[in-house]
Parts: sequence; structure tokens; C-alpha cells
Amino acid sequence: MTHEPAAPPGTTVSQLSETELLDAFLPGATTDGPHVLVGPGDDCAVIAAPGERVVVTTDTLTVDQDFATVWPCGYRTTGADVGHKCAAQNLADIAAMGAVPTAMVVSLTMPGDTQVAWVAEFAAGLSRAFGELGAAECALVGGDLGWGRELSVTATVLGRLEGEPVLRSGAGRGGTLVHVGVLGRAAAGLDALQTPVPGRWDGVPEPERTALHRAQLRPAPPVSVGAELARAGAIAMLDISDGLLRDVRRIARASGVSIDLDPQALEPAVHTLAHAGEAVGVDPWQWVLTGGEDHGLLAVLPVDSPLPSGVRAIGSCAPLPREDGPRGGGSSAGNGARQRRHERGTVTIAGRSPRQWFGRDVVEGWDHFEP
Ligand SMILES: [Mg+2]
Repeated sequence: MTHEPAAPPGTTVSQLSETELLDAFLPGATTDGPHVLVGPGDDCAVIAAPGERVVVTTDTLTVDQDFATVWPCGYRTTGADVGHKCAAQNLADIAAMGAVPTAMVVSLTMPGDTQVAWVAEFAAGLSRAFGELGAAECALVGGDLGWGRELSVTATVLGRLEGEPVLRSGAGRGGTLVHVGVLGRAAAGLDALQTPVPGRWDGVPEPERTALHRAQLRPAPPVSVGAELARAGAIAMLDISDGLLRDVRRIARASGVSIDLDPQALEPAVHTLAHAGEAVGVDPWQWVLTGGEDHGLLAVLPVDSPLPSGVRAIGSCAPLPREDGPRGGGSSAGNGARQRRHERGTVTIAGRSPRQWFGRDVVEGWDHFEP
């Protein structure tokens, strides 16, 4: 960005009118794109909706809940960090439907002492993320800037579909479980950011620590691969926001299937975290199996589908045996049986329950949810 700063350094948002603040915000934002018919400046934007269907999602980031202004390790979160993360988690949701992001609106609520420079960085970080993450068709077409006691950002993203939306519930006939993106790195980064310096993370070299911080602050979902997976025939998909095991289980339950993870296929992800894990006393499997916020894509493809570039098979997905039900009961099982079958959707690792495989509870409360 080569635009002039709209306000002298140190200016806070309460010193500007909303129009002046918008003047600081807009130059850093990508407000035009192939689907924008009317951009910012009117009461609403107007967006083309190819295919007559619109995919829509929304997500909020709140200070002290989703990020810290200053982390215990001393890192100060920038506006660009928050802009990037806000874009990343919303774009990942669109990608997870097999769709292509087309437009975003954002609502930024902030205390009056927020620096105007922070707001400009936020807009730039958000827009840069469109290009970096593979959402080149997406534009920021509007939003709202307002005051509140705490900093909070809500974005809504629209997307277009090329074919049918890919739901979590479509994997009933089974197939290959695939993943694209990173695993466990955002969780390791969160641990590092939350650890005071000097502390547990001192033995991890600075570049590695910084890379892990970045994985938490600026996750990199492979957004364009969502539509590629849909084209490759994906029958179920979601983005991993709450950890591999939890999100695999979401597909297993929604689809009524059993999913078996292949630990060998996860080894490379574990390997990249092995050194940090050893230095700080955390089993890297814990990060890989349970760490959230990486926003990689998890999908089920038919067994004979070719894998798009960067996509790896990490397990297999099989229909559950038919509900036992009353013998000879014919169709009496009906919806109730289908419901029970879905509740039985299971996740195993190399054929064993996560608890057996890991030797202890790998996700707190996991057993509580087990059938
Ligand atoms: Mg999601």
C-alpha cells in the first residue's frame, strides 16, 4: 500500500469522525472484484450471485476471548494479525462447503483509544489475506465501524458454488478421509504465545517460535482447494477449527459412518512439532490430534478419486453396520434407527479408540461423548 496515512501517528479513533475513519480504512482494503456490482459508498453493496445460490457464513473475534492485545510472551497483536485471522476463519468456512468466496462485509467495534493506524492495518491485513489464502475473487464490499467497550470484529462472507454444496453429512457410503493444510501448529503457537518469557519455550529457537506464533495469529487455510475437492468429488467436508479428532467425529456423526485415522499418515505433521514438543514437555501428538484453529480442510473422497495437489489421505471412512433394530421388523426402524446410527458415528486410530491408542484421554471429556 502506498497511500498517505490519513492521520498523524498516535491519532486514536475517537479523534476522528466516522467519515475520516473510513478514509483511513478504505485505502488499504480490496473493495473491487469480479462479483462486485456496487461497492462501498451506498447503503448496501450489490453482489452478483452466479448460479442463483449464495453460500454465507459469519464469525466473530473478540479481544481476550479469541486473541490478546499483548500476549504473556510479550508479543503485541497487530491490526494486520486480527484482519488476517478474521478473513482466514471465514474464508475457510466458505471453502469447506466447496464454494468460492466472492464478497465480505465486516463490522469493527472498538474502544475510543484504538489507534487509527491499527484500523488501517486491520483493513490491509484482511485484504492481503484474500490474495495470500487463495481467495482472489473476494472483495471487501462494506461494513460498519463503531465504538464499544472492547475490541470485537465480526465478518460475514458470501461464496458461489460451482456444483452442489459439500455437507458434513454426505459421507454415508464411505471413502477416503483426506486433509490439506497444517495440523497442530496453531495450538503449539498458542502455547508459545501464552507462555511468559523467560519460560518453558526458551529452549526452542527463535525462528521456530516465531513461525508457530504466526500459525496461531495468521492461520493459512488452503481456501482454493475447497472448490478443487468439490470438483474431485468430495462427498463430505469441513474445516478443522476445533481439532482433528473433534472435527473428524463431526463428519462421522453427521454421516453415520466409522472413520479410522492412519497414524502413519499423520507422522509428518507430528515430526514438524517433535523438537518443540520435546523442548517444552508436550507430546506433539496431542497438538496434532486435538489442536484447533489451523483451519485446514478435512474431506471424504470416493476411494478412486485422484487427490488434488497438496491433499493427503489420512484415513478411511466406512458405513456403519446396519442398525440391529427389531429382527424382521422391516421398515419399522425408520428415522429413529437412522438417528441412532448417526449417534454411533465413531472415530478410531489404527482400529483402536483414541483413548486406547494414546494411552490416556486425548481429548478432555471425549469418553463422555463416546457411545
Ligand atoms: Mg468451520
